[in-house]
Amino acid sequence: MPLPGTGAATKAPKRASTAKQTLKYVVVIAVIGLLLFLLYRWARPYLIAGRDLLATIRELKDKLTHPANSPRRSEKLIRCDACGTWVPGARMLVAKSGKMFCSRDCLSVPRLK
Ligand SMILES: [Zn+2]
Repeated sequence: MPLPGTGAATKAPKRASTAKQTLKYVVVIAVIGLLLFLLYRWARPYLIAGRDLLATIRELKDKLTHPANSPRRSEKLIRCDACGTWVPGARMLVAKSGKMFCSRDCLSVPRLK
């Protein structure tokens, strides 16, 4: 027949071990948290670079899916010095004097001065 004293004595180490286990979990969680924090700090520049890369890829994809938008955005309209028509810069003809003309006709026969 076990004495009440011994019963308490067997219970005490059990409680101590659970407390130890809890402490172990706390330490493990703290270490994991610290590792994650360090990993995040270490990886942050890479994450930012990755985000920039994704943005660039998205922009490229946008240009590829909507090809009509990009030339319109990049080409400025320039006014013809002869007839006054607004024409995309890539299609303009530049005279020796530096004037811009919409066509060969305007370049050879300037109607306005
Ligand atoms: Zn013209």
